[in-house]
Amino acid sequence: MKICRFDDNRLGVLDGDDVLDVSTVLEQLPACRYPLPRHDLLVAELQRLAPAIEAAKPHARRIPVNTVRLLSPVANPGKIVAAPVNYTKHLQEVLGDANLHHDNQINHIERAGLFLKAVSSLEGMSRGVELCHPERRSDPELELVAVIGRTCKNASAADALGYVAGYCVGLDMTIRGPEERSFRKSPDTYCVLGPCLVTADELPDAGALDMTLHVNGEIRQRANSRDLILGVPQLIALASSFYTLHPGDLIYTGTAEGVAAIKAGDRMLAHIDRIGTLDVRILEQAQ
Ligand code: MN
Repeated sequence: MKICRFDDNRLGVLDGDDVLDVSTVLEQLPACRYPLPRHDLLVAELQRLAPAIEAAKPHARRIPVNTVRLLSPVANPGKIVAAPVNYTKHLQEVLGDANLHHDNQINHIERAGLFLKAVSSLEGMSRGVELCHPERRSDPELELVAVIGRTCKNASAADALGYVAGYCVGLDMTIRGPEERSFRKSPDTYCVLGPCLVTADELPDAGALDMTLHVNGEIRQRANSRDLILGVPQLIALASSFYTLHPGDLIYTGTAEGVAAIKAGDRMLAHIDRIGTLDVRILEQAQ
């Protein structure tokens, strides 16, 4: 299934060029009281609710997808884990350009480990990216994103895919500069996710997906997830060896070569085969 969230927090299933509105299923989510759980409620219940979602589809309102506002398919991730340089060609690109590395120590991912983006930076594709410090350079990074479906700690790479709820297309927006990664990658709207969550039963192997990023019609990045240095299973093993992963946690798997600046007015099309396309505008700085 291709699960999406749209308009005023409605739940949808993508079906071709339409969204089927299955929001009635949300009434089956457990009620929460303070303190709220650390996981995303919908992702935690997704497997249990899948039959109800299927049952709601034949009666669902059908809406053309290009007439709705697509939100982040995961509403409340507990954390956004991200991989730094995780494609060999991108590592070489960063090492060769002082505007990219800014004398920061750039390490192979096995030495650098992972980093976190603020959950407040997360938006769906229809919101647009609002430039932060527009006098500085901001870049888009196209990334395959795995969504954790079950709580895990110290998962082995061999077992890791069993903890995945599904996959999305992500843009890890980045201000270039000397500061810590998490600071430069966490402004509001600097983490785009969508257009849907493709459930893992529909995409059992995300290890060989073609992906492209176009900006204003020009190709900027072209990659395949088979070229990841650490694939999804290895990233989950590494992340869960440091912290418990909860349903809804996001794993941004890292970007390929071809990073370049964007400016207000630009339009980004971020595509991953078998998942979909993010269509995102770059907006002026927020007031
Ligand atoms: Mn990245």
